[in-house]
Amino acid sequence: MENLDFTNYRNTLEEKYSELKKNKEFITGYPGNQNFDYSVLSKFFEFALNNIGDPLIQCNFTLNTHEFERDVIKFIANLYKKESDVWGYITNGGTEGNLTGIHIGRSHYPTGIIYFSSHSHYSVAKAIELTRSKSKCIPVLSNGEIDYNELEQKISENNNEPVIILANIGTTMTGAIDNIQKIKEILIKQKICNYYIHCDAAFHGLILPFCNLPTPLNLNDFHSISVSGHKLIGSPIPCGVFITHQIVVDKIKHYIEYIKSGDCTISGSRNGITPLILWCAIHQKTYDEFKYIVQECIIKAEYARDKMLQNGIHAWTNQYSPIVLFKKPSSEMIKKWSIAPYENIAHIITTPNLSYATIDKLIDDLVLYKEKSVD
Ligand SMILES: *Cc1c(COP(=O)(O)O)cnc(C)c1O
Repeated sequence: MENLDFTNYRNTLEEKYSELKKNKEFITGYPGNQNFDYSVLSKFFEFALNNIGDPLIQCNFTLNTHEFERDVIKFIANLYKKESDVWGYITNGGTEGNLTGIHIGRSHYPTGIIYFSSHSHYSVAKAIELTRSKSKCIPVLSNGEIDYNELEQKISENNNEPVIILANIGTTMTGAIDNIQKIKEILIKQKICNYYIHCDAAFHGLILPFCNLPTPLNLNDFHSISVSGHKLIGSPIPCGVFITHQIVVDKIKHYIEYIKSGDCTISGSRNGITPLILWCAIHQKTYDEFKYIVQECIIKAEYARDKMLQNGIHAWTNQYSPIVLFKKPSSEMIKKWSIAPYENIAHIITTPNLSYATIDKLIDDLVLYKEKSVD
């Protein structure tokens, strides 16, 4: 909508509402689940909620939802096999969680070098810049996983510096998962004792705990993790969860006191609505229902991949991922279906709300445009 009519603001809002309703069906390239119902929460908009501060510390301001925030942290930590000594908070999204992870890692190791991959989300480069960190970008293997040999080589060149690893637990573009065990073997082999591992699990962080991985992800194997709330779960307001070990934050408390703040959260005032949203989302369903939804996403991705292949479109998926990759289509297609392009590839993501009928329509279009295009 251009030139908004503010003389009749209700009409203008209605028009915007209809436009968004129409657009919703055509979002296929981005991981935001649109299937949710939080209408039970609408009455909470009457309060000026504010979750300022550390959710684990009782505070005098009572218009907050800290107990819900703690419960969400506990639920996700449990998915990662950690039942106690957990610290965390609800962020504005995966980006803030990555920034917090890098900030805490650097607080532990001020001279630490950050190792991340060329397929890491751009929020990682942003956080490196914000924290003025030294870093090394490592190339990826053909599936998007970090190249372990290159990582080892680069670490060996900086033998005396602490290592801060930014592991991708599902890259944005291909859903590739960096292998934490392999990374730890490299650290042992290179005799690195001072290290910090942060996992960026924005989208796949709530998928993998419901998959039957040969080695389930375990928070005790790394230091912190960042997950987005508006991606797999879905939320009208972007949000995320940052989780670490209590001891990891306790160790840097003197540093935090130095900057005259009693908590490790990044923002001052924090919204109190998203903890309610995530809390509703996780308690509206049972574990088995979550598992079913996640499995369905992956089955749908395999369906889309196979159907594309049958129609002569080169397509592939990574294991445990609802991301379907294929050759970059025309810009009309990208725009029409909100497909995400990257270099010469593109992807769609089979979120819970994406129907088989929409996938079929999209593939029909891909075939049509392919036949129309000259190459
Ligand atoms: C989406 C994404 C992010 C950023 O998350 P926001 O919630 O959009 O801030 C970070 N890392 C990965 C791997 C992502 O896919």
